[in-house]
Amino acid sequence: MSRRVVFLDRDGTINVDHGYVSTIERWEFVDGAIQGMKLLQDNGFALAVVTNQSGVAAGRCTEQDVERLHQFMCEQLAQAGVTVDAIAYCPHSADAGCRCRKPQTGMAEAIRNSLQESVDYDSSWMIGDKIADVEFGRGIGVQTALLRSPYWMADDLESISPHFISNRLLDVATMIIAE
Ligand SMILES: [Mg+2]
Ligand SMILES: [Zn+2]
Repeated sequence: MSRRVVFLDRDGTINVDHGYVSTIERWEFVDGAIQGMKLLQDNGFALAVVTNQSGVAAGRCTEQDVERLHQFMCEQLAQAGVTVDAIAYCPHSADAGCRCRKPQTGMAEAIRNSLQESVDYDSSWMIGDKIADVEFGRGIGVQTALLRSPYWMADDLESISPHFISNRLLDVATMIIAE
């Protein structure tokens, strides 16, 4: 029995992307995100957050800051009955050449290890607001949903086509469970 997983980008997907969000003061859930995550969880999906946090490499925040913020996120979600099953983040800079920064797929391995069960990639999804999120999803063989954001333009879709384009996580969740 393998697990269906929804891989979730963090900034711009779960929380509002204010740019290098590293403190609780700057944390703001996207409208409907908690509800969307609940919907997915209630329909049997594991929830896995995969997030690039190059602010660590840039010295804007520490790994401890990132982990503290994730603990806060999980506590807030738990109050709404949502459990995050696994979290992975890449602390490296874009030019470090690491295997974990999206669009590289190293974080999917970290997620699989912490889930401690096999992943049914064919029935799983990646949701994010950047082209790199779609590339990550394609790279691991899941279906992809791209959220509208200032980070991409229609031209970008010529080289990479997500399975679904939407405004926010809740709408994607609604679509996924309706399938
Ligand atoms: Mg994002
Ligand atoms: Zn990395």
